[in-house]
Amino acid sequence: MASSKIYDTIIIGGGPAGASAALHLAYHKRSVLVLDRGTSPMHFHTNSIYNFAGAGTYNEGRSLLRQMQGVAQSAGAKFKAANVVEVSGRYPKFKVTTDWSPRTRDKSEYTARTLIFATGTARKHPLVDGEWKNWLPVANVGNGAYYCPDCEAPLCKGKDVLVVNAGTVGSALHVANTLTRFAKKIRILMTEDAYAPIEDQDLTKLDKSPFEWTKGTIKSISFPRPSRVQSVILTNGDELRTNVFFVAFVAFPRSELAQQIGVEVDPRGNILTDKRGKTNKEGVWAAGDCRPITQQVAMATGTGNYAALMINQFLGNEYEKDQLFDHPDCRGLIHPD
Ligand SMILES: Cc1cc2nc3c(=O)[nH]c(=O)nc-3n(C[C@H](O)[C@H](O)[C@H](O)COP(=O)(O)OP(=O)(O)OC[C@H]3O[C@@H](n4cnc5c(N)ncnc54)[C@H](O)[C@@H]3O)c2cc1C
Repeated sequence: MASSKIYDTIIIGGGPAGASAALHLAYHKRSVLVLDRGTSPMHFHTNSIYNFAGAGTYNEGRSLLRQMQGVAQSAGAKFKAANVVEVSGRYPKFKVTTDWSPRTRDKSEYTARTLIFATGTARKHPLVDGEWKNWLPVANVGNGAYYCPDCEAPLCKGKDVLVVNAGTVGSALHVANTLTRFAKKIRILMTEDAYAPIEDQDLTKLDKSPFEWTKGTIKSISFPRPSRVQSVILTNGDELRTNVFFVAFVAFPRSELAQQIGVEVDPRGNILTDKRGKTNKEGVWAAGDCRPITQQVAMATGTGNYAALMINQFLGNEYEKDQLFDHPDCRGLIHPD
């Protein structure tokens, strides 16, 4: 069923980036619709957020996100559980189509003058007997498996950590290096069936590093109880016991929808924007993890806020629009930060 209302902005994705953008736009009396299929890691995996200023020393991801969405709703933003499958059109009229999914029941079409993509990123974990989903039930549960060195390295203080790599040698070393000031012992497991093939010259980087490392294919993971000794069992029968797994995952930014309307992405699929979140397409912004930025709640909310601020000015005042986007800082710039 198609809705006849034309929103000022439709935001695709209601994680921290989308919720933050929705708050600013609604606060400024813009009509804003957030379409979200509810798969933010904030719902599932972030049960211990310590590094988001302004909301206490410890936050459970789920309740933090609920708060963010609640404030935006109170300001007037409309949130809908919906799975967006298609985006078309151009400024000032974009069409957004949703369809049924296991998590949503909405099948409709919506129209807006501007768009924000806040679709986040999908994470691929190391394969366990050919399957990556085995990690999800233990991701962050009881702080036994960690993902983000920037957010979680300090939580590994005094622990024996096994860095389990799903990507490149560079990502494994980045995780291991970040842990050095905290962990008691650090080892790296390079999974042989990782998504990025391991080159011989990369392995010499590991040899030159201070870290003990091994390679192998994971048969199973044993996770008897959160924070207890646990292990990875390799196909050759070796068992690597540890206190904590630190997963060096591979990220796949969710940018397919943006690409449908010609939004530019980098070779990894990150949505490219100027500093303020504006894409190469008139009337289209992006915020949060779908851009090539550090994946943190603070960055997501910050970029969401910035994009919304710019859209509010863009919609509000034709002459100001030219002034803003001619700013020497970002004129014609498409760059990664
Ligand atoms: C295990 C783990 C632990 C973490 N711990 C921390 C931490 O301690 N501190 C910290 O700062 N950060 C942490 N992070 C990172 C933080 O969760 C992310 O940076 C943040 O959630 C990004 O927000 P976002 O809004 O950009 O994307 P997301 O939170 O991923 O939200 C994107 C939303 O878009 C929706 N969406 C995508 N495509 C569609 C579509 N087609 N239709 C409808 N909806 C769609 C998704 O369902 C999702 O709800 C952690 C992440 C993980 C995985």
